[in-house]
Amino acid sequence: MTYDVVIAGAGVAGCTAAILYGRAGLRVAIIEKHHNISTHKALCGHFVLGGAQPMLRRTGLWESMVAAGAAVGGIARWTAAGWSVPGPGLPECISLRREKLDPLLRTLAAGTPGVDLVLGRAVTGLLESGGRVTGVRVGDEEIPARLVVAADGHRSPVARLAGVAEDVAPNERFGLWAYYRGVVPRGPAGNHVWFLDPDVGILVRTDHDLHMLVAFPAKTRLDDFQADRAGALERFMASLPDAPDLSSAERVSKVIGTNDYPCVKREPTPRPGLVLVGDAAITGDPTPAVGCGWAFRGAEWLVESTAPALLGGGDLQAGVAAYRKALGFVIDHDRYGRRDALARPSNPVEKLIARAALRDPELARRVYLFAMRSIPAGELINPRTLVRAAWTLARTSP
Ligand SMILES: Cc1cc2nc3c(=O)[nH]c(=O)nc-3n(C[C@H](O)[C@H](O)[C@H](O)COP(=O)(O)OP(=O)(O)OC[C@H]3O[C@@H](n4cnc5c(N)ncnc54)[C@H](O)[C@@H]3O)c2cc1C
Repeated sequence: MTYDVVIAGAGVAGCTAAILYGRAGLRVAIIEKHHNISTHKALCGHFVLGGAQPMLRRTGLWESMVAAGAAVGGIARWTAAGWSVPGPGLPECISLRREKLDPLLRTLAAGTPGVDLVLGRAVTGLLESGGRVTGVRVGDEEIPARLVVAADGHRSPVARLAGVAEDVAPNERFGLWAYYRGVVPRGPAGNHVWFLDPDVGILVRTDHDLHMLVAFPAKTRLDDFQADRAGALERFMASLPDAPDLSSAERVSKVIGTNDYPCVKREPTPRPGLVLVGDAAITGDPTPAVGCGWAFRGAEWLVESTAPALLGGGDLQAGVAAYRKALGFVIDHDRYGRRDALARPSNPVEKLIARAALRDPELARRVYLFAMRSIPAGELINPRTLVRAAWTLARTSP
């Protein structure tokens, strides 16, 4: 049979796209290389920024995650200027460990009418006809489809099969974290991030009363963290301003991390009949915790843009172009993300805005919405912001 859509990869982006295509009334095959529905991505901090909240609520995924134990809350941000605390009415973040999130999304996808979840099979080739991708090869089996979606993560074997070029940028931080029970936060919110210029520390409350202690130091400090990673992580967290109280905390996981995680970008609509979503399209710096949110939101943009043509036999290429346009939101943010990933100390303009935001609630709101990826990058990064920040400091200085 010919499916409307075949999706490679049952991670965040793939499952979300499968659920939404299925709900739209389309026939979907989602192919996942892992056999076990519970196999999950280990290398993920799963802190989903507030920018994804509206989409998660619209689709009911928010409620499903909360029912599975997800922790919900805002995040206070520390810079040398002091703490910036989210005001009322701002979008909240959500955190559910991938060992819970991945099986939840796969179960929801498998239970959606019209969706066939195929576990334990990898996409190994593409079917092509007249310059168009017309399906996938899974071992000896051919699965034709009107649209092929590569949701197969940052290495994207499908993009490689299609010969899609990669735009790779360096990441000058490394990251490590572990889960703890019994952490007592001392900062002003449920979740905290410390921008130490250039190191970054993060404390996240997650499901089942656990906290994640996270360090993203500059690579120049790699040696300090190699011998005793748990000890180094705990010493790093203890050194932070308003550091969490770890005196009664117990580590309940091994230390997880990566020493090198470059940013990778690929053309999301590289060939007729083939689109990329989630990390396959844009793998950002993990430090600002953007990836799962982009995967959820990108999948919704993809389905909204292409489902009408797939259902009604309209112009699929126009739908694909609309998806490409929607992803411009991510590509713009990713441009600044790549700059931050160089782990350079803040420049004078960034310092000025951070100081002014502590005195100007509207500026603070905009900085927070930018950090949550709720607004287009240009709504914060523009000359008006600079003028407003300078004016605020001039007006309020003693
Ligand atoms: C250190 C680190 C920390 C992070 N922390 C956060 C965070 O706190 N918040 C956040 O939002 N993001 C975070 N991210 C990013 C986040 O993990 C990714 O952006 C997100 O998982 C992308 O989802 P995806 O569905 O595109 O890919 P994945 O979740 O990677 O899913 C891809 C799926 O494709 C499958 N697959 C691969 N190849 C094939 C094939 N050939 N055939 C079939 N299936 C295949 C894989 O098995 C997998 O299930 C972090 C990333 C890193 C590295």
